[in-house]
Formats: sequence, C-alpha cells, structure tokens
Amino acid sequence: MNQVKSSEELRREWVAHPHFKYRGCAPDPDDPKRMAGNPELHVGAHNAPDAWSPEGQKERRAREGKAIEVCLNCPVMVQCDAYASSVGPDGKLAEPEGVWGGRRSLERHKALIKARHARAAAPVRAFETEQKQAVLQALAVCWDPFEVAAAASRVLVSWGEAPIDVRTANWQRSSLVRLLGLPKTVSRMRALAVARERGLLDGVVLVPDDGSVPAIPPPTRVPSSSEPATAAPPVADLAERRPVVTVLLGRRLRRTRVIPGQQSLFPADAALGVAA
Ligand code: SF4
Repeated sequence: MNQVKSSEELRREWVAHPHFKYRGCAPDPDDPKRMAGNPELHVGAHNAPDAWSPEGQKERRAREGKAIEVCLNCPVMVQCDAYASSVGPDGKLAEPEGVWGGRRSLERHKALIKARHARAAAPVRAFETEQKQAVLQALAVCWDPFEVAAAASRVLVSWGEAPIDVRTANWQRSSLVRLLGLPKTVSRMRALAVARERGLLDGVVLVPDDGSVPAIPPPTRVPSSSEPATAAPPVADLAERRPVVTVLLGRRLRRTRVIPGQQSLFPADAALGVAA
C-alpha cells in the first residue's frame, strides 16, 4: 500500500467528488430509510452488524453481498475505497468496519496486512548469508542464546565457515527479525512461522516452545576469563555436556557434539549413531 495522501485528504476528495451525492449508499430521496442504490435495502446495510440485533453469519453475508452490488454501481467507488482502506496515524484502517468501496472489512484488513508484509519484509536474498542461515536454522531447534550460538557455529563449521560467538548470534537474531519486518518484541514462534511462510526454513524441523520465548534475547553477558562463570556457562562447557553423533557431511564422517534437536539440522539420513 503506497499511501501518499493522508486519510483526511482522501476523505475530502471522496466527499468533494461531483458525483458524491449520487453514491449508492445515500438515502433514497423518497424514503430516507431506504438506500438510493437499492430501495430494497435499509440505508445502513453497509454498516457493521448491530450488536443489539444479532444477525446470523448467513444473513450477514447476504446483506453484505447486496451492499457490495450497490458499491459496484456507485460513481465514487474508487474514491470511497481509497479513503476507507487508507491507514491513519494510528496504523489502523480509516474505516475498519463495514462495507466500503465494494469490499468487506475482512478483505480490507487482509489487503492491509499483505501490503505491510510486502513493504516491510526484505527480499529472500537478504537472508542468504551463511551466518543468517545458520542462526535461523539453529533458532528453529533451540532458543537459549548460548545454545543457538553453539548450534549455528556447528552448522557454519560444517559449511567450512568460521564459528560465531553468542554476541554475533544475538545480533543476527535481531537482524533476522528486522529483515522479516517484525517488531523487536516478536516471539520466537511467530518469527519462525513468518520465516517458514517465506520459504526460509524448508526442510528444517521446528522445535516449538510455549510461545513466551522472544525471538531476540535480552543482552547476554559473557563472563570474562578472569571471573568465575556465574551467569550462563560458556559455549564450550555447554558443548561438553552434549551427546556425540557421527554424521556424514559431504563425503566425510564427522563426530560432533550436538544440542537437543540439532539433529534436524543435518540431512535426515546423516546421523549414523549416537555415542555417550
Ligand atoms: S462505494 Fe459503496 S460504500 Fe462507498 S460511497 Fe459508494 S455505495 Fe457507498
């Protein structure tokens, strides 16, 4: 949605159109309770359902269908749709409810979301750096910052790249969220769902969390070598506690320590065995 004019300007254009008074949803001059574009309809047929008079889904669809027919013959439909589907300073549709410009509320909301994704999300090639791909795959199977860094490093090493530390992994997590066009507070599960929709996680098994894990972790403090490790243990310590699997990478067999769920980072038949 490339909205240059404000909702207010678009509304003024709609109302100032020379044919505005002939709009389909205007009151019928002979019976102001009826609609000029279809006297069989009540003048409020374009409105959202009345909370005080419940209406079944079938009746609502039928009423909205007739209202849309009126719109399709309306001389100011284009201007009406431009205004109703424009976005206000609060980020919401100018007219979030009812039929406007020949479209139901749900259709206009869907169009808004689609436009937001198209505008905000970066092209797929922006995700094609080794570090981003490795961190995204690691995030699919674990979420602890140290474990993500360790998993991503193993993937990078298997690709012949240098491993990364936890700060770099966190930075890449933040970068991925930005490239996906998501807010910084997005959950890991939501970020992964969007990444999957975009085809960035094809063939990768997702390990779900309970929905409370943020995609971007809070700043991680890595203890210096001169102080005892009171915070999260260094990656090396974590790695030592992991089981060892033998995997076939390319033509070579490799013994490697993995974190829970990390097996899915390798081809399904690559894990040949688990040692203690
Ligand atoms: S397009 Fe529909 S809602 Fe808009 S002015 Fe015309 S009849 Fe009314």
